[in-house]
This record gives sequence, structure tokens and C-alpha cells, in this order.
Amino acid sequence: MSVLAHHMSGKRTTQELNAPASLRRNWRIFARVTRKVVISLCAWVGVLILGAVLDQFIPVKAQLFGLVAMLVVACLVVGWGTIAKTKWGVNFAPISCPRCHLPVPSLRRPRSGRQRLWGGSTCSACGTEVDKWGREIPPNS
Ligand SMILES: [Zn+2]
Repeated sequence: MSVLAHHMSGKRTTQELNAPASLRRNWRIFARVTRKVVISLCAWVGVLILGAVLDQFIPVKAQLFGLVAMLVVACLVVGWGTIAKTKWGVNFAPISCPRCHLPVPSLRRPRSGRQRLWGGSTCSACGTEVDKWGREIPPNS
């Protein structure tokens, strides 16, 4: 990180070493957000290319119908997931560790592929894995 930060800021190394921890944390969050933007841009380009290819074979009305149907299904799945607290749902409320009741930060580097994909975090105090609804995940699941 230090090489990249040095390259981006153009500051001296001594200043960098004295940089407060919050600055480094902000940089890490910035890097993560940038990666997310790049990934979503790639996804959009892929969708555009796919759309251009589909235009050759499928009429526009059928494409629109498919798109609307997919959106409706996605809304239903996310809506139901939010109500029933499945992994498809969206949780905006802060969560806390079920064991030691410490708040679990949501902006955290994912420890596993599941956390990256489905959210959730690992308690920094006791190491308990928590899903995005604040429920404990058994370690061998
Ligand atoms: Zn804990």
C-alpha cells in the first residue's frame, strides 16, 4: 500500500510514516470503492455487448419483456429476503456480535468468499463469524 500511496500523493516517505491511521483507513476504503466502481463498469460493458449480440437474434419487445421480468423477480427475491432475513435480503441496520454484543463494523475487509458475496463480518473481539443479519455462523458451515 505504501508504494502506491507514495506514488499517488507524491509526498515524502517520512510524512507517510507519520500519517495518522485514519488517513490510511480512508485510503483503504477509497481503494475498495474504486475497485467496486471498476467492477460495476465492467459489468455494464458486458451487458451492453450482450445486448448488442442479442439484438441480432431476439426482437426488442421480447428483450424488454425479459428485462422487466428479471427486474421484477430480482425485486421480489430481495424484498422477500429482506423480510425473511435470507442471504438475498438487504440489511441497512448496524449489527452486533451475538456473543460479546460489540458492534461489528460493516465496512470491513471480507475474510472469505462468502463474506464478499453475501455480506457479514468477523467479530474483531472474539472472532465469531456473523452474517449480515447479526446471526452467528457456525465455524464448520
Ligand atoms: Zn464477538
